[in-house]
Amino acid sequence: MTKEILSRSIDAFISRNKEAIIQDIGTLVAIESVRSEPAEGAPYGVGPRAALDAICAMAERMGLPSGNYGDRVGYAELAGESPQYIASFSHLDIVPPGNGWKASPYQLRNIDGWLLARGVSDDKAASVLCLYLLKFFQEEGVKFPYTVRALFGTDEECGMSDADYYLAHYEPPVFLFTPDGSFPAVCGEKGIFQGDLVSKEITDGRIVDFHSGSASNVIPDKAYLTIKKGDYQLKPDDHIQVTDEGEVYSLVASGKCGHAAYPEGGDNAIARMVRYVLDNDMLQGDEKDFFLLLDDLHRDHGGKYLGIACSDDRFTPLTCSGDMVSRKDNRLIQNFDIRYPASITDSWLAEQIREKLRPVGGDLVVRMVDQGFCMDADSPEMKALQDAYEAVTGKSGTPRTTGGGSYARKFKNAAAFGIGPETKADFPAFVGGGHGAEEGLHTHHILDALKIMILAVDNLQDALSGEAR
Ligand SMILES: [Zn+2]
Repeated sequence: MTKEILSRSIDAFISRNKEAIIQDIGTLVAIESVRSEPAEGAPYGVGPRAALDAICAMAERMGLPSGNYGDRVGYAELAGESPQYIASFSHLDIVPPGNGWKASPYQLRNIDGWLLARGVSDDKAASVLCLYLLKFFQEEGVKFPYTVRALFGTDEECGMSDADYYLAHYEPPVFLFTPDGSFPAVCGEKGIFQGDLVSKEITDGRIVDFHSGSASNVIPDKAYLTIKKGDYQLKPDDHIQVTDEGEVYSLVASGKCGHAAYPEGGDNAIARMVRYVLDNDMLQGDEKDFFLLLDDLHRDHGGKYLGIACSDDRFTPLTCSGDMVSRKDNRLIQNFDIRYPASITDSWLAEQIREKLRPVGGDLVVRMVDQGFCMDADSPEMKALQDAYEAVTGKSGTPRTTGGGSYARKFKNAAAFGIGPETKADFPAFVGGGHGAEEGLHTHHILDALKIMILAVDNLQDALSGEAR
């Protein structure tokens, strides 16, 4: 089939299936697939399990062989001449909805073609597209050299143990793309370093409680502080709500949710609270010292005041975001999420942070380190993705690097690819991003992404079998 004929067949397929695609997205977003306590047959909780069953039911309806691996990763596939396979790997789990939704986050809304619900852009619409991609080639009766397998993870947001499980038990794909971000293709991802700054034990302080955040990678829009009264005056602030409760004040800071990899896109409520407390001189001694350190963490998204700011020629500068805070056993605990370029190491980061902690006291607890990766942007596989993107959009599809962490980093030959547009410039103000409130994408983004992915799989078959069929 020439690429022209293929392109026309895809267009016809998309117009035939448009309504069904939106309906299937609606079915998936209705499932509250946030990770929870493990249950029988549900290692990540009943929500992710229900999503796994729902995608398999859709695959079955399309007549595609499907099932799951260890109750962790779903699959559907189209057999090729070889059992070796090209994979897509999307995910069905979601982060908690958070605040700021104008309607139920679990009910798909269509506002002028914009589809809104938790999971639309991260990553349920993409999961539905991966099925329709298989359906397209099945209806065309294509027999590819390589099998095409759509993998559906259910633990992407909480550490990707689903991918680890899969790799430990099954042969890896010859190439994998993960439609869990935006176009064009991503050939490199920053390292991720997550941990806690833990204060020393403070028994003579004023803070009774301080808590905020739901996940290490989600910028919180609310932070809550309960603090004893003292010889300080509280100035009014648009972002801080103060309630006098007799012995103590209750404070609520408000900001805007966002993704830790792109801290400039959110408005961290913890940062606002820390700044307010310091501006009003509410603390003394060890508590104040620790808050000054927190302010160093929060007041620059590039880690400048922690002494970790850096960049290199392949990646955008390091980002640093502190997204959860708590108080336990008389200690304040500030979680952080750092995305770092390939030119530095996690041990250097830990060393710099410990250096900052030393005068204040307290500990650094390292929670997670995930080395980044950088593939050759000129490989035949990356070229296959680039060509597909350029053919559909007419824009440059040169592969890039990012601070987002996707399944791609788990596989030897892999890239993140789609499904969001390259820029959010045309997003109206009422549409939010992944991990934020009012998360959404336009129907045309979704349908264009399907066409790009179908062309990409066709290109990949050529690229990997070393010939134009
Ligand atoms: Zn995702």
